[in-house]
Amino acid sequence: MDIQLSANALVDTKANLLTLPVFEEDLSKKGGTEALAALDGALGKALLTAAAQEGFKGKANQKFVMHTLGKLSTARVLLVGLGAREKFRTEALRVAAGTAAKEALRSGGGTLAVCAPLAAAAEEEVRAIVEGLGLGAYRFDKWRSKKDGAKAISKAIVCTPGIKRNARLDRASSLGKAVASATSFARDLVNEPAISLTPTALAQTAQRYLKGTGLQVTVHDREKIEALKMGMFLGVAQGSAEPPRLIEVRYVPKGAAAAKSKPLALVGKAITFDSGGLSLKPADAMVDMKTDMAGSAAVFAAMHVIATEVQPRFPVHAFVGTCENMPSGTSYRPGDVLTSRIGKTVEVTNTDAEGRLVLGDVLSYACESKPRGVIDLATLTGACIVALGNYTVGTFGRDEELVGAVLDAARAAGEDFWRLPLVPEVKDVLKSDIADMKNAGVRWGGAISAAHFLEEFVGETPWVHLDIAGPSTSDKDRGYVSKGGTGVGVRTLVELVRRLDGQG
Ligand code: MN
Ligand code: MN
Repeated sequence: MDIQLSANALVDTKANLLTLPVFEEDLSKKGGTEALAALDGALGKALLTAAAQEGFKGKANQKFVMHTLGKLSTARVLLVGLGAREKFRTEALRVAAGTAAKEALRSGGGTLAVCAPLAAAAEEEVRAIVEGLGLGAYRFDKWRSKKDGAKAISKAIVCTPGIKRNARLDRASSLGKAVASATSFARDLVNEPAISLTPTALAQTAQRYLKGTGLQVTVHDREKIEALKMGMFLGVAQGSAEPPRLIEVRYVPKGAAAAKSKPLALVGKAITFDSGGLSLKPADAMVDMKTDMAGSAAVFAAMHVIATEVQPRFPVHAFVGTCENMPSGTSYRPGDVLTSRIGKTVEVTNTDAEGRLVLGDVLSYACESKPRGVIDLATLTGACIVALGNYTVGTFGRDEELVGAVLDAARAAGEDFWRLPLVPEVKDVLKSDIADMKNAGVRWGGAISAAHFLEEFVGETPWVHLDIAGPSTSDKDRGYVSKGGTGVGVRTLVELVRRLDGQG
């Protein structure tokens, strides 16, 4: 989709769908904003009357569509509610733009125009609208033999009357496009069935996707993983006919001093299918388990934007250990003891607590390059969904500075993160009778004990663990989110790296 900034008024813009985001207050004042008054005037004052009759009050997530019946050169006008002006956050524009893109797809595609409602559209707002448009237009119809026939949005125009284009606005728009495109890639990976997104395919797809970005991508096979003594990772992988892969992605900044500065490390969980192993999941719980690699999808997507748009003055390294968790004659068994890369031994009490085993080895490997911080994203526990629901990322860590930086970045990026505690007493459930620790404890506090487990493998490195099990997928379309993979975490990682580089 081509997205352009325009200084024209919405009402003067040629498009198939004109979209005007409005605050509640705009409707209570006579005529509202200039853009609203102009549209209402062009439609013979029918717009505000009809909107009021249909109960449209400008509340957040409310929308109202009206056909222009030839009164304008556009077929439809869409009003999207932004809620109360005093509660405004940039995220509301991202949601409104996403709603507009979905409505445009529903009504035949073509050209979509959106008014940026703030007189002096700031960069963050332009970026949010561009991201919302790109994300809202996402569809996954690869596996339909008949595509749904909806025409694509050929062009989106962001209108702010009188706005002067400048390098900062262009950069914000370019970043927004890159983030939306990368997030769509992450969604594609999450939505892809496990039969076609095997560990081998994931590695190949990442290599293809990151080609030409200047990133160094290295893929290791089982022999190398054995040489690295990643006994926990290998234990999980041994039940599958599909071989595991260890993927490393390196961004190296220009300049010798920058290249030698401390890297930031990112780690993503990438179980391409989680059956639970011999501790088999019930049928209902297994249906969505192709999505158990969403953490790695977000990491690959973020690396693309980091290399092409953000280009920070410090290195960023990404590490992904990918395999399937399957039941078979070669599976690891409950009761087995695995020896991790750093020598700690783990008694497996539940083969469905596999993510932490793979992540533990990969995290300790990532920490060997002495990064300034390591951040892992993982669809790790159902317990985190019980605690926080489907919209919020569970955030763990002891390093106040890094945790604070991640939470601030998430807020700025419009993603909902919430800190959870590493309650010391909860760790007791990981005590094993025969090994250094066990991999699973009791249900209560399951997200916390999983975080405690991971912490055993990061040493002194500042670390943040993000449990994305809830928000990695959505069970419905809403705003710029589509049913299926959401690409959660991409925007926050990009924003974090921008801020650490002083660009935020
Ligand atoms: Mn599992
Ligand atoms: Mn899993």
